[in-house]
Amino acid sequence: MAGNLSDFISQIVRRFEPLAQEKKLALSYESDLAEIVVFDAEKVEQIVYNLLANALKFTNAGGVTVRLTGGPPVQLTVTDTGIGIVAEKLPFIFNRFYQVQRQATNGAALSFTNPGTGIGLALVKELTELMGGTVSVRSVSTRDSTGKPPGTTFTITLPLERVGSKESVQLNPQPALRVASVVPLL
Ligand code: ATP
Ligand code: MG
Repeated sequence: MAGNLSDFISQIVRRFEPLAQEKKLALSYESDLAEIVVFDAEKVEQIVYNLLANALKFTNAGGVTVRLTGGPPVQLTVTDTGIGIVAEKLPFIFNRFYQVQRQATNGAALSFTNPGTGIGLALVKELTELMGGTVSVRSVSTRDSTGKPPGTTFTITLPLERVGSKESVQLNPQPALRVASVVPLL
């Protein structure tokens, strides 16, 4: 669909406000993309939803910031001040069913603080690549000895086509052609 990607993402972010409030975390959204772009709403929703769910799940202080910057290409970042991911585990996080905590405990039952199956990021990568985009991650773990504040940033880059500016494009124009919904069978 062609639409306002910025508004679309802001609605998804807002859905996480109750959870952020419950965990006493700041949740913010910044966007400088005003143009109407062509995007796959279902895929974008799944991507943003999974990245935000992770960011809030693995953060206990500070907060989460979502940023959308216009391109081309369009860039979406989800940054948190959470526990981070140790460098040696980073190459595996996009693998299906991989969970850092589960690995750390040699396949023992998942801890209560990390419900889930380890599928979210595999889905994020697959959907991003289906749209011709890329996903990357930078992270500093509480267990790293770098002295840098911990946290994680996921960056999604999408080659989305611009249709025009907010002002010049009319959303939901009348369909030019209607296909008969009932075709009698002979
Ligand atoms: P599911 O998404 O299926 O509910 P999950 O969240 O554990 O389960 P993924 O979203 O695929 O699985 O993430 C894989 C692993 O990567 C997580 O279990 C966690 O160890 C690590 N991870 C992902 N995002 C973050 C983050 N923002 N901060 C810290 N660790 C993260
Ligand atoms: Mg997840």
